[in-house]
Amino acid sequence: MKDIERLIRPNIAALCPYSTARDEYQGPLGIFLDANESPYPNGFNRYPDPHQKALKAKLSKIKGLPVENIFLGNGSDEAIDLVFRVFCRPGVDNAVAMAPSYGMYAVAAATNDIEVRSVQLGAEFDLPAEALLQACDDNTRVMFLCSPNNPTGNAYDSRELLSLADRFDGILVVDEAYADFSSKGSIRSEVLGRSNVIVLQTLSKAYGMAGLRLGMAFACKRIIELMSMVKYPYNINQAALDKVSELLDSPVEAQIREIIKERRALAEYMTGLPYVKKVYPSDANFLLVKVDDADALYDHLIGDGIIVRNRNRVAGCSGCLRITIGLGSENDKLRATLATYRA
Ligand SMILES: *Cc1c(COP(=O)(O)O)cnc(C)c1O
Repeated sequence: MKDIERLIRPNIAALCPYSTARDEYQGPLGIFLDANESPYPNGFNRYPDPHQKALKAKLSKIKGLPVENIFLGNGSDEAIDLVFRVFCRPGVDNAVAMAPSYGMYAVAAATNDIEVRSVQLGAEFDLPAEALLQACDDNTRVMFLCSPNNPTGNAYDSRELLSLADRFDGILVVDEAYADFSSKGSIRSEVLGRSNVIVLQTLSKAYGMAGLRLGMAFACKRIIELMSMVKYPYNINQAALDKVSELLDSPVEAQIREIIKERRALAEYMTGLPYVKKVYPSDANFLLVKVDDADALYDHLIGDGIIVRNRNRVAGCSGCLRITIGLGSENDKLRATLATYRA
């Protein structure tokens, strides 16, 4: 286990976290006159559990990791922001990230006044391990990798990711937002034997709860403690706690299988279109497709009410559209519209 204490911002290491009314009294239920809440019940008049114990217990069973290794955030976007706030001194430290990748790493870094050193992926979007390590200096605290990657769709081998974690003297964040769709699976169980790895997952994609905002970070106990100390005390609201818990009782495996089946069919169809140069292999719920004229095809799809993501102006993705896999009927409509396009 690597020593990560030296990586923690000194002000965070010294932080005395806010103690909520719910922290100070944890006895049996009684008459609660301690938090200045309204006494009139409407289902939401009480503050939610700042430690989200019940939901974490449920996710602990699903994910196969102890509660002490789970952080819950208002989307994984909150966890990304917290990583910068816990480990990076504004204006001093830096982070390394692969590119093209998820845009939030750069935005969260910029709002925290942290420099991001971007390293372009290889030819087939392979992991530039040596270049990522070479981009680091004494002030590099964090490295962001995304697998399966957004927007390229490819997933990396767990051995590649873990070897980077072992060679990197900082915190390695592996964003697995799309891992449920991937044949490569997840490396989340590896956080038990490693102090410097944070695995991010979310309920926004395969679990169908983007509107509820529930992201997860898996890491060693110390990192979970640090992130929990810095977060807003009531970062997950009661409505989200209730609804997420309810929806977790409905299995999503069949939907995931269906999306993977649709992904395969759509990839095959698009490969046969004359104006499609390349359909990149995908381990996610979207396809990255390179075409003759991405802007023109984007406009053609919009003309038929189909909205995709134009990645034409993203470095490394020129000529590319990112297309989310929809319902079978939606994908049929997409194919019909693609068939009427002439580049
Ligand atoms: C969609 C996505 C997320 C999810 O963010 P939430 O805030 O949990 O909705 C995280 N990382 C990547 C790479 C994504 O594409």
